[in-house]
Amino acid sequence: MSIQQNLKHIKETLPENVTLVAVSKTKPVSDLQEAYDAGQRIFGENKIQEMAEKHELLPKDIEWHMIGHVQRNKVKYMASFVNLIHGVENEKLLNEINKQAKKHDRIIDCLLQIKIADEESKFGMHEAEAIEILKSDAFSELAHVNIVGIMGMATFTENESQIKSEFTQLKTTFNTLKVLHTNPAQFKTISMGMSGDYQLAIGCGSTMVRIGSSIFGVRNY
Ligand SMILES: *Cc1c(COP(=O)(O)O)cnc(C)c1O
Repeated sequence: MSIQQNLKHIKETLPENVTLVAVSKTKPVSDLQEAYDAGQRIFGENKIQEMAEKHELLPKDIEWHMIGHVQRNKVKYMASFVNLIHGVENEKLLNEINKQAKKHDRIIDCLLQIKIADEESKFGMHEAEAIEILKSDAFSELAHVNIVGIMGMATFTENESQIKSEFTQLKTTFNTLKVLHTNPAQFKTISMGMSGDYQLAIGCGSTMVRIGSSIFGVRNY
């Protein structure tokens, strides 16, 4: 099926309150353009340089989401245009995003990445750290970042009940953090679910799914 058909098919299955991030990492600009022409406006990338290059080449009404692991020294290359950073995994990174956003007179939306998977390779903070950040005076002084929710990745496994329990855990963490937020109405995003597990994630309360291979086909690294 074509990118356009894949997109249409996926969109038909998504509830209205769930946002689709088309994960276009490793894919050529022509593929993104095809998705754009089919109406898609939100794209997710996991490498800052690749995202910056694609941003240069593509229409400027695209919303760019950084979904990958972020190195602090590279935040400056996306601070002028990125719309949402999904993988904020510690306070130092949040401080750097704030600093770079300030230079561009912007407020950058961020999600705190919470570790839910049973795998060493997955990044993220524990709920306790997220609570500490939201409660801290230092955070309340960061005028150029806006924490709008959380993100998590389930363990890579066939075991559906494990994935479900991890997603449920993320939803519980979301509820806990929301009441601590100075502006709970702004804290509204749960980014969870990818090609293989997004239906399950939506069932557990996801409001944003990050789908790559089911739209663009398998990736060749
Ligand atoms: C690559 C990636 C995705 C998309 O994965 P698919 O299985 O291709 O849908 C989602 N989230 C993150 C963080 C990724 O790195």
